[in-house]
Amino acid sequence: MKVTVIGAGIVGMCCASYLQRDGHDVTVIDAVDPGESCSFGNAGGLSPGSIMPVATPGMLSQVPKWLADPLGPLAIRWGYLLPVLPWLVKFVHAGRMERVIEVAAALRSLLKPVFESYDPIAKAAGAQGLIHRSGQMHVYRSEAAFRGDALGWKIRRDHGCEIEEIDAHQIRQIEPALAPIFARGIHFPTHGHCSNPFRLVQMLAEQLVRNGGTIMRRRVQGFRLDARGPTALKTDGGDVEIDRLVIAAGAWSHKLSRELGSAVPLESQRGYHVTVAEPGVAPRINVMWADAKFMATPMDVGLRFAGTVELAGLNAPPDYRRAEVLLQRGKQMYPGVKDARVSEWMGHRPCTPDTIPVISRSPHWSQVFYAFGHGHTGLSGASTTGRVIADLVAGRPPVIDVSPFRIDRF
Ligand SMILES: Cc1cc2nc3c(=O)[nH]c(=O)nc-3n(C[C@H](O)[C@H](O)[C@H](O)COP(=O)(O)OP(=O)(O)OC[C@H]3O[C@@H](n4cnc5c(N)ncnc54)[C@H](O)[C@@H]3O)c2cc1C
Repeated sequence: MKVTVIGAGIVGMCCASYLQRDGHDVTVIDAVDPGESCSFGNAGGLSPGSIMPVATPGMLSQVPKWLADPLGPLAIRWGYLLPVLPWLVKFVHAGRMERVIEVAAALRSLLKPVFESYDPIAKAAGAQGLIHRSGQMHVYRSEAAFRGDALGWKIRRDHGCEIEEIDAHQIRQIEPALAPIFARGIHFPTHGHCSNPFRLVQMLAEQLVRNGGTIMRRRVQGFRLDARGPTALKTDGGDVEIDRLVIAAGAWSHKLSRELGSAVPLESQRGYHVTVAEPGVAPRINVMWADAKFMATPMDVGLRFAGTVELAGLNAPPDYRRAEVLLQRGKQMYPGVKDARVSEWMGHRPCTPDTIPVISRSPHWSQVFYAFGHGHTGLSGASTTGRVIADLVAGRPPVIDVSPFRIDRF
């Protein structure tokens, strides 16, 4: 079967890789080269236990404090408040306790098999060396902040996530490069990280082409529709005929799904990173400074500090003061970090209000499938999403229950 995937980010490339393994003739279309959007600069965390939704009852009470600091972990550009308001209302509504429990269960089903889902496609692409199952830590400066997250740790435990509570001494044993400023932490022995998320996407794309697939650099502007649904993509390089279609266009996906009859509340939670190419320190694992809400990851390209959420839409220019703050905090975390060859970046996390991505067949057109909205955990969720989309296209029972991921749930 001929399958066209819109979007060559990590989600689109995992879908394309699994579809090609099923023997389909796969074309991936993107306006930029593979991996150049959100999948370029994430923190690399591979986190089967990142199952808590972004909105929780405890988190919502902290929002006023975060917003009071324009360079804090959450910012809203005030000119964007009105456009984002409908999405924010849904987001707050999703933070009620009974929904939080449902969301955690859905995310656990998607994220738990992250490594087994990456294994075959990363191996085929020669990229298994980028995937490290070396554990992960969340560290806290104060006992009070640690206690404040107790609900999240309980829900994770209830869903079978392996977590170990650790003290200051154990933190330094696991990651000796950390400053001795962290009082408490959580160790996830079954987590890991990808040491070059951009290269991972590129290698999946290279493998797709080696196996006879096509990567096409075009911007999709709309669809040619008849009574059977979309028959071609209208692009900046002319029409492209399609048979099966997968929309994996990250934070831009709702613009395309809307034209096909499925309106989805999708918002960009813009995040930033700084990567220090020659940091002068050598941490071993991926560490989240939980009370400051950012991650530090040893990458092949240097030490990366990544995080923060900014609501400012898809078009506003980046505010790199947010990246500068990450570097300052990073230096507190790892004493001795030098500012040698620092690069900054901003990316658009594709976020649904309830944190659950859309992994779904279209309720309107049986040949159309959706894979987007992976928010803060798209690198972790992409590999199983690829398997699920291949199952849905093949008409097989999917590897996980897909009902929580339906596109028509909003
Ligand atoms: C700071 C930061 C840190 C993060 N850390 C982690 C982490 O540690 N672990 C984790 O699991 N996740 C993390 N994430 C999240 C993760 O990076 C994203 O969820 C993931 O990259 C989304 O992938 P995607 O393929 O859906 O989107 P993208 O990578 O954005 O790809 C979508 C593609 O669709 C293309 N496209 C859109 N519209 C069109 C069109 N009309 N025509 C043609 N092409 C189109 C775009 O050009 C783009 O290339 C982080 C994100 C950020 C910003």
